[in-house]
Formats: sequence, C-alpha cells, structure tokens
Amino acid sequence: MTFAALRRLKQELTRREEQSALRRRRVLDSAQGVRIRMDGQDWLSFCSNDYLGLAQHPALVAAVQAAVVRTGVGTGASHLVCGHHAEHEAFEHELAAFVGLPAALSFSTGYLANLAVVSALTGRDGEVFADRLNHASLNDAALLSRANVHRFAHGDLAMLERQLAASTRRDRLVAVDAVFSMDGDVADVPALLALCERYDAWLLLDDAHGFGVLGEQGRGVLSHFGVQSPRIIYMATLGKAAGVAGAVVAGDETVITWLLQTARPYVYTTAAPALLSAALRASLTEVAAADAARSHLAVLIDRLREGLRARGWRLTNSRMPIQPVILGNNEAALDVGKRLEQGGILVPVIRPPTVPQGMARLRISLSAAHSLADIEAVLSVMGAA
Ligand SMILES: *Cc1c(COP(=O)(O)O)cnc(C)c1O
Repeated sequence: MTFAALRRLKQELTRREEQSALRRRRVLDSAQGVRIRMDGQDWLSFCSNDYLGLAQHPALVAAVQAAVVRTGVGTGASHLVCGHHAEHEAFEHELAAFVGLPAALSFSTGYLANLAVVSALTGRDGEVFADRLNHASLNDAALLSRANVHRFAHGDLAMLERQLAASTRRDRLVAVDAVFSMDGDVADVPALLALCERYDAWLLLDDAHGFGVLGEQGRGVLSHFGVQSPRIIYMATLGKAAGVAGAVVAGDETVITWLLQTARPYVYTTAAPALLSAALRASLTEVAAADAARSHLAVLIDRLREGLRARGWRLTNSRMPIQPVILGNNEAALDVGKRLEQGGILVPVIRPPTVPQGMARLRISLSAAHSLADIEAVLSVMGAA
C-alpha cells in the first residue's frame, strides 16, 4: 500500500541516503564512559558530554538502588497533580543553593526547560534576542513562544545592542548558550547582563556545558564570572557533567513561581522518576568534590590542543572539554572521522546544518575519565591523517 504522502517521505529519505546524509544510530551495549562497547565493538570514545565521568559513578548507582525501593519507578502524574516527590523537592533546594540562586524547578529535559522559560516569559507581546549559534532547543523555544525573534551574529554584542535599542515590545528576553555547544567558547555574561539591565530584558543562560565544569566546585557559569541578578534565568542540563538526566531552571522566587504556574512544558508533562532526583542529589556531592577531576580535565585539554596545533590542525579558542577541529568541507571531516574509527576511536563528525556551511568539524569531547595515554592515541592517528 502506498500513497502520495508516504512516497514523498521515501523519496526524501532516499535522497538523503544518496548524499550520505542519513543519520543512523549505533547501539550501545555497555554503561556510558570513555571505554564503551557499541555495535559489537570496543571503542575509545570522545563522544559523550559526561565531562566528569559520573554517568556510571558508584555513588550515583547506589543512590538509585537505595531510592527505587522507597520511590518505585514511575511518578504517575505531573508535578502539580501528585507526581512531585520529596526527592524532587530536596534536589531543587540543594541545586538552588549550589548555584547561588533563590529557587529552582526541575524539568525532564533541557529541551523542555528552554521551551518552558522562553514561552512563559515572552509571547505575542514579546521579543527574543538570540545568538546565531544557540542550541536548537532555544531556537525552537523562540518559535513556540510566538514572540518576535531577532538573531544576532555570534557574540556580536554591538548588533544585539542595536536590536535591543530598536525594540518596541513590552517583554524582552536575551537567550544564549553560556558555553556554545559546537564551538566551546564561553559567552560574555557580564557584558550581556549590562545590556539586559540597560534595556530592561531578561537574560536566559543555557549552561548545559558549563554546569559541573566551570566555576568554583563546578557551580557553573555564574560562579565563573561572579555575577548575580534577578534578571538572570539559569538553566542547567543534568545529563551532561552531572551524569544523570533532566534539567533545572534556577532564578528569582517570583520567576520560578511564574514558571510553575504557567509554563506548559512544566505543567502538562509527567514528573521524571524520583529515583533520578536521588541520583542527582548524589551527583551534586560528587560534582562539588570533583576539583581533582576538573584539574585533570584542564591538563587533558591543554595537551590535546598543543598536540593538535603542533600537527597543523585548525582549532577554535575553546578552553572547555568541547574541542572542535575545523576541517571545512564535509568529505575531509568524514575522512578523518573514518581514520579514527579504524583505530578504534570514536569522535563525532559534525556537518551543516548543525554548524554553518563550510565549517564541518570533528567535535572531540574530553572527560576526566580519559587518560593522557588516550589523548596520545588520538594525536597519533591525527598525526598520520
Ligand atoms: C544538550 C543541550 C540542551 C538540551 O538538554 P537535554 O537535557 O539533552 O534535552 C540544551 N541546550 C544545550 C546548549 C545543550 O547542549
């Protein structure tokens, strides 16, 4: 049985396949880590965002095992009906204290958290100002909000200021990745905050890649810059350095209450399992105590950058565990990716439209669970390529 709409999907998929643009999933058959088993093969992986190596940490596993007996598995309802468990509640308080903000609210994913914040704080009367290199979830959030959207060139605060100065709507929100997910650079938060103060705008900071890595004890980008303001809405994802799943939004009490009352991606979804909050509480303890892991990560980053630069590769100025190697054209990037694979090393190859045209790259993600020998293994293949 076939019909026109189905035929169109098949044609489009075939076209993608012919252009080697069809995405496919590999099947992981081990815990997440730097040494994984996937598609029946052993790999040294530079793919995950598990920057501190907490995804399979014994303290987190033990927290889940202990919690499941008390909490069961499913929550059965949204937070506002009867799904909000004492574990969620305790985690929110602990997280808010950890990042130095008055209140926090948990979400099932960072994607949903971004949808929630942008659509609850802006709307038809609003304007969203977004960096061009923001994560897809912030772009989708702006669309969902129905606000007027202005995108400014990456890091171009003069352009942002012109857009803010020309704004005529009532509710203004500036949204940026605190650490850009494909380039690894850190947003100039103090300058962004100054603009938000001058033009009376909210500042949404998506710290998906900074939480656990930046700042004192891994408290994130606010601690890194030492900034505080009731204008800041802080979002951290918890499936990356925190090693678990979900996300949290933290900020002023009034903002958090407003989200709880009005944010549809909060209200109309089932609460994530409380056992995950138990794991997250254990994770907060581990993140705070991970100074040695963060120092080791910094050593790995320096060694990788120095080694790649010496071999003539083009890097970005990232000081973060996200280390892109810019190849430019897709074929070159795929070729180097394939050579690494032949050496048992997995590094994601990122192509447009995820990154701008002509900016295809390898995106090497480092973890504190890597050793210097793992870095040398990458450098040895990259030296020959
Ligand atoms: C991963 C990521 C998200 C989405 O978070 P999930 O919890 O994976 O849904 C949002 N923003 C940025 C910058 C990210 O890297």
